[in-house]
Amino acid sequence: MIHWSVLMTYAVKEIYYTLQGEGAHTGRPAVFLRFAGCNLWSGREQHRIDAICRFCDTQFVGTDGPGGGKFATAEVLAAAVAAAWPDSSEVCATTSKPYVVCTGGEPLLQLDTAAIDTLHGAGFEVAVETNGTIESPPGIDWTCVSPKANAALKLRNGDELKLVYPQTEGAAQPEKFHNLSFDHFYLQPLDDIHLEENTRSAIVYCLEHPQWKLSLQTHKMIGID
Ligand code: SF4
Repeated sequence: MIHWSVLMTYAVKEIYYTLQGEGAHTGRPAVFLRFAGCNLWSGREQHRIDAICRFCDTQFVGTDGPGGGKFATAEVLAAAVAAAWPDSSEVCATTSKPYVVCTGGEPLLQLDTAAIDTLHGAGFEVAVETNGTIESPPGIDWTCVSPKANAALKLRNGDELKLVYPQTEGAAQPEKFHNLSFDHFYLQPLDDIHLEENTRSAIVYCLEHPQWKLSLQTHKMIGID
């Protein structure tokens, strides 16, 4: 029998080592594995106005970013992720595992069991940042769901729910999500021309609803990717 990973080709925009900038793992060193493509926007500016998700701040089209490309197997993909992590001998002496954040675009269009298993085999803790519209394969260690207005939410449990706030179109108010099964609930101010106002609104909401915590995009503040 041929292993599925032999047949799967992964399209990856970029692979790079950085600090997680948002949410519960803010400040944690991580390899970012950014898959190409999303099911809520083509990634082309001319399509943004008609997209389901219109506030995206990420380049996820193509495979031309640093470390990006088409990876023919899960093993080749995991090797590229492992190569981005520094000094593996030092890692073994720490209590923290190597950490990979699978993001996009929408990573669950491509991330499969073969890739998760192979990343585990390479010693990584596997996190996913998803829009929550696609069921996830088993084995993911940390699931962060970021719901989008006008997109039906399928993933209704996980570790972290991170809601971009406010989302003026459609029903994506925090009240819609507060009963879901997550360990952390974050509001993250929408980064548009009203960022200051959005931040103040998010602060007020968190203070009035202490189930919610504020997530800031610290990587933008300190000037890293
Ligand atoms: S769902 Fe995420 S990756 Fe897709 S367009 Fe929206 S913000 Fe961008």
